[in-house]
Amino acid sequence: MSSLGDTGRVVVAERNEVLAGALSWLLREHGYEVITVSDRNELFAVIEHDVPDLILLDSSVSSRIGDGILGELRGDDRWNDVRIVVTTPWQSNNGVEIGLPWGADDCVAKPFRVAELLGRVRTQIRASEQLRSARAALMETTAAMERERFEAANNRRLVEILHEVTGELSANEIYRLLARRMAESLDISNCSIVLARPSDEMGTIVATNHDIGPYAAELKLDEMPEIRTALQSDKTFFAESVRDNSLFEDGRMIPSRDGRGVELRSVAVIPFGIDRSRSGVLLLRTGRDERALTTEDVAFADIVLRAAVAIIRRAQALESTRADNRRLEALATTDPLTRVLNRRAFLDRLTAEVDRSRRYDSTLALLLFDVDHFKRINDTVGHLAGDSVLKQMGALLEDAVRKVDIVARYGGEEFVSILPETSLEGAIIFAERLRERIAAQSFDIGNQRLLRLTVSIGIAIFPSAGVASTDDLINRADEALYRAKAAGRNLVRS
Ligand code: GH3
Ligand code: MG
Ligand code: MG
Repeated sequence: MSSLGDTGRVVVAERNEVLAGALSWLLREHGYEVITVSDRNELFAVIEHDVPDLILLDSSVSSRIGDGILGELRGDDRWNDVRIVVTTPWQSNNGVEIGLPWGADDCVAKPFRVAELLGRVRTQIRASEQLRSARAALMETTAAMERERFEAANNRRLVEILHEVTGELSANEIYRLLARRMAESLDISNCSIVLARPSDEMGTIVATNHDIGPYAAELKLDEMPEIRTALQSDKTFFAESVRDNSLFEDGRMIPSRDGRGVELRSVAVIPFGIDRSRSGVLLLRTGRDERALTTEDVAFADIVLRAAVAIIRRAQALESTRADNRRLEALATTDPLTRVLNRRAFLDRLTAEVDRSRRYDSTLALLLFDVDHFKRINDTVGHLAGDSVLKQMGALLEDAVRKVDIVARYGGEEFVSILPETSLEGAIIFAERLRERIAAQSFDIGNQRLLRLTVSIGIAIFPSAGVASTDDLINRADEALYRAKAAGRNLVRS
């Protein structure tokens, strides 16, 4: 007889040795693996060790087949999937009346008709295979659902953490938030962020979820080789149990929840880089009094960390763009020699101040300064000394005015000042005081030489008769200045 290609493991439980031998031969010929046993103890010894697909159970193996062997087999989850076919003598009704109600899947009468026996065995084994693959599919689905539930829960926590992190926070605030929320989320006692580069000897703890005792802000990386390993390899270091890891000396302690120390149980170190000069690690640790960290914890922490690092990078890119803009803005409005506002910025500010003065019905004063005989200064002490005098003049004017006042270089050796909320009387008093102060000032022109000079000042007020615009105001101040020059210089005119 040739094999019909059936497969499966069959235990033949049969008292009659001759019959057992024949059944065994027949089934092997059809492709089954067969083990024969002759009593209850042998049967359990075999199936205990290796669960078969089918048991061909002779009713005489147990005198009480119903509540005996069948009861034992069906009462134990390990043999849920084993198909049981009871074999009974023709005359007996055991198979049908006792076997089936007690959980046998089928029964066959002895002596056997070969075709019927093989047909029943095959049917049962196929049913068993179908059942098993259905159960495997069910378990697969359940596991997938479990995974999805876990991921959904993690994603929710992730979103919560990132929601907090995406505000306008500094890098250090993000680190602190990350350490605290990560520890809460994973329910672990120790989460810290340590900044260090791969070659550094010391790391800086920038954030930690526990502020227990005088915790050192600096730590020696020699004493924490797991941090150095993670930094140098740029890969996550994970030790579920530090006891099994040669990197850890016995009895490494960490701060415990109650404030005392506790022996370290598990560690994960996830490296990250912010830019060329800044890198660090997220350090997760649990003590002997807590659970061990899992690969899921590490995967979750990794996702949150990456997101936080991206936010820090973005915040810093934004900050440097803002700084660039501020620098450009300063360049565009500042006079490069004297560092006071340039003419263009002055005109913008004058327009704004005139508008304000109109809106609030207040008066403002415009002062125009011109250095007397500046050409002579250039001619006698040189152009560079002249430049230096102009710089000092700018600084002196800035120093003399109120915070709300505006000083600018109008051009050459001419400066202007806008004095908001100032009357003509107030402007004259201020201008006279300033004229005197300048006349009394010694300007440093290098090589320990000092220089005295004077200025002429023209004043105009907005609003005043014939002054309805910024142009009127500037022209009026210019005319007043001309009069000061004409009257002999070192004078104030309005
Ligand atoms: P006054 O105003 O009293 O009538 O005589 P002044 O000699 O000051 O005459 P004026 O205002 O016509 O000349 C201004 C001079 O200032 C002309 C120019 O050489 C000089 N000057 C203008 N800008 C600069 C500068 O940036 N640096 C230096 N060193 N000199 C400058
Ligand atoms: Mg001039
Ligand atoms: Mg001049």
